[in-house]
Amino acid sequence: MLFNELKLSNALLSTISKYGYKETTKIQEKVIPLVLEKKDLIARAQTGSGKTASFVLPILNLWGKQKVEGKAKVKVLVLTPTRELTLQVAKTFEVFAKQISKKLKVVSLIGGDNLGNQMLQVQKGCDVVVATPGRLIDIINKKQIDLKSLDFFVLDEADKMLDLGFEEELQVILDAIPKKRQNLFFSATYPNKMSTIALKITNNPLEVFIEDEEQIVENINQRAIRVNLENRSALLKDLIKNSKWDKILVFMATKRSSDNIAAKFRKHGFNAESFHGNLDQDERKFTIEDFKNKEIDILFSTDIAARGLDIDDISCVINYDLPRSTNDYVHRIGRTARAGKRGTAISFLTHENLEHFKLIEKKCNIKLTYEEIEGFELIGDELKKEKGQAAIKGKRKSKKDKLREKNLKTK
Ligand code: ADP
Ligand code: MG
Repeated sequence: MLFNELKLSNALLSTISKYGYKETTKIQEKVIPLVLEKKDLIARAQTGSGKTASFVLPILNLWGKQKVEGKAKVKVLVLTPTRELTLQVAKTFEVFAKQISKKLKVVSLIGGDNLGNQMLQVQKGCDVVVATPGRLIDIINKKQIDLKSLDFFVLDEADKMLDLGFEEELQVILDAIPKKRQNLFFSATYPNKMSTIALKITNNPLEVFIEDEEQIVENINQRAIRVNLENRSALLKDLIKNSKWDKILVFMATKRSSDNIAAKFRKHGFNAESFHGNLDQDERKFTIEDFKNKEIDILFSTDIAARGLDIDDISCVINYDLPRSTNDYVHRIGRTARAGKRGTAISFLTHENLEHFKLIEKKCNIKLTYEEIEGFELIGDELKKEKGQAAIKGKRKSKKDKLREKNLKTK
């Protein structure tokens, strides 16, 4: 569908066209008219399918029609799980508000940045607040933000935002915003357990799911390579040397392993950096900027980079360590092949994580061929388990079992 078939203002349509969007994506085609009709929505669509614009555009359209006088009041609140995603969404509002005659003031509230400054910006008056929950709650508790005029409450990466542990925080926020408001939830994944919470917060929401759509973008070439745990780093170097990948995002299980491997790769002449929540805000900002500008080729990261980030031309995502949950797998590999582009996602399968990967495959409804790369073939005991993890019963006899058997026979 063309954007100008939607009931958006000429000013917005002109910005959209200048920005280079021609046709709507599927989710935009469905969601934009419903937001304009002021419906509550729970929307699901694949990673990289343009969910951000699907709420930003109609919200701006409705906002632009309101007559407000005096100091700006917060009309839109968007919550996201990470600082980087908050800044990204705030930017999208700013980009598309450029030609609207009224001036839009957007404030980002994130941890790690100067709290006083953020409060000052809020007090000066703003229309849109994009925030991570922690920092927003700090400011709510200090009674430094008035959210009583709010019209739109948006959760990006909604399943993550409604995940366990966030319930109390959510209550503080719900208490600060009006009961009558439009609720808009977006994600590529919704675990079943989430729907009850989502229904509680929203008001007769329409569930907008793109029909016949697989959870995972078909343009991602998913691969799985079997390798011994201790050979993963050598294999990764080999793969990088023999491929023409542009930007490579490598997911690691911990902050420390991410730092260590990045240092090791730098020693070997690779242009690698590490990204995780222990960096200070400036380091986080510059690392992502450098990765965007191709000043970093390989970014090792924890799951903090798994959600929502829209970085152009990440050609390959590597699961050096597997993600814990199936949903995280979907989001991690969704950092590549965005907006119809192609990309590769490779998971390293060791003796230790094979069973876990099979579970991910089952839940994602995929079945990959397990490859081996020459020189890095998997060797050793198939049934070895991760340290501390109990062996699966009936698969491998423990020393004790064998001894017992022997005793039985001799008796
Ligand atoms: P999602 O939130 O669904 O993962 P994003 O909103 O981050 O996806 O959008 C992914 C990319 O697609 C962004 O770079 C965005 O600019 C681009 N995009 C969004 N809508 C369109 C469109 N209609 N035409 C072309 N590109 C689009
Ligand atoms: Mg998104």
